[in-house]
Amino acid sequence: DGLPTTVSADLGVPTVHRTVTDYANFDHGATTPALTAVAEAAERAQRRYGSVHRGAGYASRVTTGWFEAARDEVANFVGARPDDEVIFTRNTTDALRLLAHCLPEGTQVFAWESAHHAALLPWRDAGTTRLPVPNSAQHAIELLRSALAQSPAGDRLVVITGACNVTGEIWPVAELVAVAKEFGARTVLDGAQYAPHVAIDLAALDVDWIAFSGHKLYAPYGAGVLAGRSDWLDAAGPYLPAGGATARVSHDGTRWQTGPARHEGGTPNAVGAIAIAAACATLRAYRASIGAHESHLYSRLRSGLAAIDGVRVVEVLGDRPNVGVVTFTVDGYDPSLVSQVLADEDAIAVRDGRFCAHLLCDAAVGVGASAVRASLGLATTGEHVDRLVAAVRRLVEHGPALSYVHTDEGWSA
Ligand code: PMP
Repeated sequence: DGLPTTVSADLGVPTVHRTVTDYANFDHGATTPALTAVAEAAERAQRRYGSVHRGAGYASRVTTGWFEAARDEVANFVGARPDDEVIFTRNTTDALRLLAHCLPEGTQVFAWESAHHAALLPWRDAGTTRLPVPNSAQHAIELLRSALAQSPAGDRLVVITGACNVTGEIWPVAELVAVAKEFGARTVLDGAQYAPHVAIDLAALDVDWIAFSGHKLYAPYGAGVLAGRSDWLDAAGPYLPAGGATARVSHDGTRWQTGPARHEGGTPNAVGAIAIAAACATLRAYRASIGAHESHLYSRLRSGLAAIDGVRVVEVLGDRPNVGVVTFTVDGYDPSLVSQVLADEDAIAVRDGRFCAHLLCDAAVGVGASAVRASLGLATTGEHVDRLVAAVRRLVEHGPALSYVHTDEGWSA
């Protein structure tokens, strides 16, 4: 349909850009462009799909096979233990909500206020302990240890952000899991920003569950994953009580399936699941070169922006490995004007706002304040990084080239 395929010059992973110009996409933290392998897998599935788990026809059996193979690939991608479950959901928000639904009665939940709202809000208020925004990895560990030490014994769940969507900082996952285990607490990893950039090994990390989204993993919208321990999932009532989740409905009552089907009521997004699996397989194959590519570009971006007078880079934990996100403010400029100028004058896509992490922004940017986020990914090149740094420097030194007015719809030139 005329969509150009762009090959990332620095890395060689083919990605499909839904644009006709080579705009510099620094919004991978929100949503990523589809990998070519993903677009092809989705298209193949679209061309010949039949109902999943519901038909005896050829297309139905093929689609069911692909759907279940997708589950196996995702299990591989996350390093699942043999008895872990992989449940396809709509996105990370839905995956964490599903886990919240499955918590045993009385479970105490521990979450840092710096979490994305999707990881902060789905838990019942009563029984949730909000830990303050930490100022270092060590501080995060201490906050958790002291909260767990003060909490009564019982079922406990610690919600860990793999990588922060505002700062890109990778959290000390292994250390936090170790503290949780000392107290017999379970853990869930919000992998929305982590999974696209860092190899995951649930078994080695001893993390109980992970949640992530297809659309941040170079796959389309509308599909995500919750993967991990089956015991709490199988003991809970179905998330979506519907067809597919039932083993038997009779006048005497309903028996529910166990395993993924229990929570995947209704016809699943099979194409989305197949697309996620294609993304997982591609990312696994390229992991090492992706890491090197992204960390090289990240250092160049971060040092370039930090060297500009009046640019302030937002940090929470401080000195941490980073998935390739630099969030910043420019003294004297409204962040929404900065992002508009970058889009209009240099074809650069960034995001401004408070990133569904209001408490983090209050603590790290300023109460009620917003910032500009540049998040890189597979389609980012060195030229993109240099273009962004030069554009911000030009803005600081000379102001916008166009004249802007602020209206109800935002800034316009
Ligand atoms: N957690 C984090 C860290 C995120 O960055 C996001 C998306 N911005 C989410 C959760 C929610 O993901 P989704 O909108 O795909 O449900």
